[in-house]
Amino acid sequence: MIGGGQAGLAAGFYLNRLRRDEASGRSGRAPTFTILDASKDPGGAWQHYWPSLELFSPAAYSSLPGYQMPARDGDGNPSAEHVTEYLRTYEARYDLPVHRAVTVGSVRVSADGYITDTNQGQWTSRAVINATGNWGNPVIPQLPGGDLFAGQQLHTAGYRGPEAHAGQKVIVVGGGNSGAQIAADLAPVATVTWVTRKPPRYLPDDVDGRALFQIATRHTRALAAGEPSAGDVGSLGDIVAVPAVRAARDAGLLQARPMFSRFISSGVQWENGEQQEADVVLWCTGFRPALQHLQPLGLTARNGVPATDAHLVTRSVDNTGLFFLGYGDWCGPASATLIGVGATARDTVAAAAERAAHAPSEIS
Ligand code: FAD
Repeated sequence: MIGGGQAGLAAGFYLNRLRRDEASGRSGRAPTFTILDASKDPGGAWQHYWPSLELFSPAAYSSLPGYQMPARDGDGNPSAEHVTEYLRTYEARYDLPVHRAVTVGSVRVSADGYITDTNQGQWTSRAVINATGNWGNPVIPQLPGGDLFAGQQLHTAGYRGPEAHAGQKVIVVGGGNSGAQIAADLAPVATVTWVTRKPPRYLPDDVDGRALFQIATRHTRALAAGEPSAGDVGSLGDIVAVPAVRAARDAGLLQARPMFSRFISSGVQWENGEQQEADVVLWCTGFRPALQHLQPLGLTARNGVPATDAHLVTRSVDNTGLFFLGYGDWCGPASATLIGVGATARDTVAAAAERAAHAPSEIS
């Protein structure tokens, strides 16, 4: 397994269970497994989020298989720090074999499966589950004049909270959850201009992570069954109105402007020539799956992500022993969420174990 964030740990839970079942005679041979993680500490992306970030849902609806997340002390949904602590405990509780500060540079096909090259040596396996998340691959659009801009360009991935930006003029770009949450986070201390490509669309105020999970699951199941879908989460809106966003929106602090067209030395400029000074342009423009290590495999792409099997959406169409877990709905409904990744992890582990039980030469 590559990646020891929430997705990798959920898969580790099910791999452990297979091994326990094997030991107790309840099932046949279970594969041995290793989790390789580039980070020196547990928690995946959660350890890098800004301090004020709260989950979309209460702890009871944000748990991985087997062990419920403890409730947070006090009001509100759990913080990113709370989730990091939960993942640290989860890893220890199930004694998951995570090898840390192991960065995978490449994966290649071998006669017996796969060769994984890392900064700490080589691993071989019959199957590889990729659970490397998106955090390591931020998307920063390139606009004319970027090299002229005297201020700082930052991405969500580099945002550590409002303190560093007190008194600054900050342009926050992006109409999704991170854009709205960071604009709300900065508004009390900085002069914020919020810029979005399309007018912001808030989900109804009573829609939280639980509802998102149910909508995503219903949508994916309907598509898989060839039935009409009532729509996916995107058809309802883009932004979850968590309390901090709702408060800033209702106070009139989240007035979005359309996208500017270029940088100038002191800030940015719109198509109509209007200019705005800025100390920082903060790109909340999302991420792509961190899959640079798979380049040697030359995978088929579909809609900008690796093409996967229609029956098991985590399995690569190019390599039957290669799986993708956690990145987004393309590899499992709500599989990028704590509550959603469990079911997909269970199915993926079953398929990977089945694949690992056979040498490639035995597979037609
Ligand atoms: P990650 O957590 O990114 O873990 C991937 C791991 O893989 C990392 O530890 C990394 O070090 C490792 N890795 C990467 N590349 C390599 C490599 N080449 N070699 C070795 N290791 C590697 N989800 C919810 O459920 N509820 C929420 O309320 C919620 N709110 C969110 C708010 C924001 C602003 C954001 C950005 C996300 C939110 N999410 C939420 C989504 C959730 O945080 C992520 O989807 C989740 O962290 C993904 O987990 P993961 O295990 O797939 O990836």
